Amino acid sequence: MITVSAIFCLECGSSLVDVNGWELPRKAVIQCAECGNETTIKGFSLGRTHIHAEPYIHAANDVAVYGRNPNIVKLIQGKAKKEIKYDQLINEK
Ligand SMILES: [Zn+2]
Repeated sequence: MITVSAIFCLECGSSLVDVNGWELPRKAVIQCAECGNETTIKGFSLGRTHIHAEPYIHAANDVAVYGRNPNIVKLIQGKAKKEIKYDQLINEK
């Protein structure tokens, strides 16, 4: 089994975050595709993949949030559940 990390937007809970540009060769600009929240990360990059619902929910439940703020944790968990329901609806057709 391989362990990877997921990234979640703290503004809207979405995991649809990707590199949108570079400020320096090792300083990426990352942006949420849903709400436009943007920041930079230095020394890291992101890689997209497709995962099943179970590991996605696990990542949402394991999310690191400052002070374990319950509102942000619920936002991320709720968004993950909505995205899984939407994905299941799309794949049933
Ligand atoms: Zn967002």
